[in-house]
Amino acid sequence: MEYRRLGKSGLQVSALSFGSWLTFGNQISDKVADELMGLAYDAGVNFFDNAEGYAEGKSEIVMGNILKKQGWNRESFVVSSKVFFGTENKGPNQVGLSRKHVIEACNAALKRLQVDYLDLYFCHRPDKNTPIEETVLAMNTLLQQGKILYWGTSEWSAAEIMEAVAVAKQYNLIGPTMEQPQYNLFERNKVENEYLHLFKNHGLGTTIWSPLASGILSGKYTNSGVEGTRLGMAGLEWLKDRTLAADRMEKASKLQQLANKMDVSLAKLSIAWCLKNPNVSTVILGASKVSQLQENLQVLEVLPLLTEDVMAEIEGIVENKPKRPDF
Ligand code: NDP
Repeated sequence: MEYRRLGKSGLQVSALSFGSWLTFGNQISDKVADELMGLAYDAGVNFFDNAEGYAEGKSEIVMGNILKKQGWNRESFVVSSKVFFGTENKGPNQVGLSRKHVIEACNAALKRLQVDYLDLYFCHRPDKNTPIEETVLAMNTLLQQGKILYWGTSEWSAAEIMEAVAVAKQYNLIGPTMEQPQYNLFERNKVENEYLHLFKNHGLGTTIWSPLASGILSGKYTNSGVEGTRLGMAGLEWLKDRTLAADRMEKASKLQQLANKMDVSLAKLSIAWCLKNPNVSTVILGASKVSQLQENLQVLEVLPLLTEDVMAEIEGIVENKPKRPDF
């Protein structure tokens, strides 16, 4: 396993990490969840990603039970939670980024995960109804209490992150260390364009999500349907429509041909492409089957195959490189 610094912080995260969205407490049994976490940990994965909103809190309960059962040394892993979406109750103060919810959600996540502190704590989305100053102060309180070690954002705009950085500077507080954006061959703008200033001048780290764009970048939907996959789950029709859009299907099929030519799986090629970006601190993998994770954990072997020529060939297929203004 390769370990990368989380931005300018001293924390080292495995280049491949593992997350539980849609799977833990939902799509897969607790037994499979246990097998997947064990497989990841044994391969050197040290970061496990979670959120209060995943399976309405059940995902954290499952992960907490696994961490307890496995008995891994607390110093050997990094675990996260995220606040914003709430769990099963969505009352006015049970969602969002108010001081009340940020602090109550952290205490609840600690209980569900059965740990004394969260290594990483994310604001899962920006909250238009709470001043950023209030959220930064609440995060700083949790840091001072030792309940969280680093805090960050997820899917915030560069302007919102900059405001959090500025507020922290103004009051001599600890600002955001990392952002969790979507990044894959179809979603590139934030990581390759919008955040460049934050990477260069503020040392922002990134824990990127959906490296396979929910599975289409494994190539499997070019030959088979959605049965038995997340896209076949009730309530996720919106994800199915977005994921299987015609232009994505066409590009995935062309990428599959390139992967065949290189004699690698498209899943590994797509994940390796994310890791090639030095502003990516860690790629969060998702898996519903042991065989998927076994395959994805071999990605570091594919990285050296991504030569300039191969990268150019990929650009020729996806044709979506974000453009920066010339002036
Ligand atoms: P991916 O885009 O990589 O999708 C993972 C899914 O793709 C798997 O669950 C599986 O689904 C399928 N898959 C994985 N590997 C293979 C393979 N080798 N061959 C075929 N199919 C495969 O990542 P996720 O969307 O799961 O995101 C990863 C993590 O990122 C999440 O667990 C979560 O921690 C985080 N995240 C954060 C978000 C945020 O807002 N901050 C939002 C979303 C995710 P299937 O069962 O369909 O086969």
